[in-house]
Amino acid sequence: MSLINCPECNHQVSDTAETCPNCGFNIKSQAEFTPVVNPLSETKKIGYVSGIVSALASVALIAIGVFTIALGFGIILIILGVFGVFVALTKAQKVKYGKCPYCGTDLRVKINNTSFVCPICKNVGNQTDTTLESTHAYNAKEK
Ligand SMILES: [Zn+2]
Ligand SMILES: [Zn+2]
Repeated sequence: MSLINCPECNHQVSDTAETCPNCGFNIKSQAEFTPVVNPLSETKKIGYVSGIVSALASVALIAIGVFTIALGFGIILIILGVFGVFVALTKAQKVKYGKCPYCGTDLRVKINNTSFVCPICKNVGNQTDTTLESTHAYNAKEK
């Protein structure tokens, strides 16, 4: 008998235990576990809705600013608008799409992350540039 780390909570567990005494994770199913690897979208797709809304709002702010520049606060609107354009560009480039390797739900993840949490099944896995990978067997969690 030896001690292994629970893949879910990192608690030390006997390798003969069926479940982790700390978090209830099913250790036994982990022994027969093969990772599921799902592809991530190659193109850094746009966070369309939020990106476009931010861009339109920013342009509107700039336009109002230009028309009201004589009133003194127009310049503030223009600065806010320019800032908003940068926010919109950032939103537009920082997401990828893939399926959760545990439950199959379509997920949107940020680029450059090394792990992800599925908002549906609450499982955690590895994220690479091109894949979402499960690191343990499916584990149903209390919401
Ligand atoms: Zn555990
Ligand atoms: Zn999931």
